[in-house]
Amino acid sequence: MSKIYLFDVDGTLTPAKSRIDEKFRKQLLVWMEDREVYIVSGGSFVRIMDQLGTDVINKTQGVFACMGNIFYRPIESINPTGSDDWEIVYENKFKPPRGLYKDLCQMVEESEYYVKTGNHYEERIGMVNFSIVGRNANKEERHQYENYDLEHAERAKIVEKLKQKYDSIDFVIGGAVSIDIFRIGDDKSQVIEKYFAEALESNEMIFVGDRIAFPGNDHSLAVALEQHPNGSAYEVEKWEDTAKLLKTKAFA
Ligand SMILES: [Mg+2]
Repeated sequence: MSKIYLFDVDGTLTPAKSRIDEKFRKQLLVWMEDREVYIVSGGSFVRIMDQLGTDVINKTQGVFACMGNIFYRPIESINPTGSDDWEIVYENKFKPPRGLYKDLCQMVEESEYYVKTGNHYEERIGMVNFSIVGRNANKEERHQYENYDLEHAERAKIVEKLKQKYDSIDFVIGGAVSIDIFRIGDDKSQVIEKYFAEALESNEMIFVGDRIAFPGNDHSLAVALEQHPNGSAYEVEKWEDTAKLLKTKAFA
């Protein structure tokens, strides 16, 4: 039985929203040699490419971006530069329910957090990404909100409120400061039913993520895999843990 590896990006292969550590990038490239590896991230393809670099991306068998709402697979091509072209295998659309954006604006207004930088929700493929601190926040501001949220669990409270009102929509704490919003089922677990259902019957599938605990954005995929005898999931706190993990037996 061969192994298929799935990796989250933020907090698993890189620091949140940042580029991969150079030393780890080299380690990862060596480890990926002759292994079947896929990326399953909340970020867009362009951002994942920027974070991991083309070398790593080109060594994968595919990239599930935007929570698995769009899947890019390399097209085997014989060209002189050796660079890969990518095809989109599937793509989901997200239709926001009536009143959702109004409610998100109200959440921002009502939040007692003092720094609000604007640009609070971003439409992505198959989902919306929402944050109280706003997408214009710099690293320091994001970090401050992260600490605030750790203390006050503001995101968990917002998720609770919105879930009560919108029963066909899922709200999941994602990344360090934001909430991912999407149709129920259009989370990372969709990669199994949409793409790996058959492969899971005859291969061992291993997922590594930093937000496996409920309601983290790796939870659904970890659960989907762990329900199957061939699937397993590993939770890390940071990319340094993943670097250590790759040296263990399970990843040999
Ligand atoms: Mg993550």
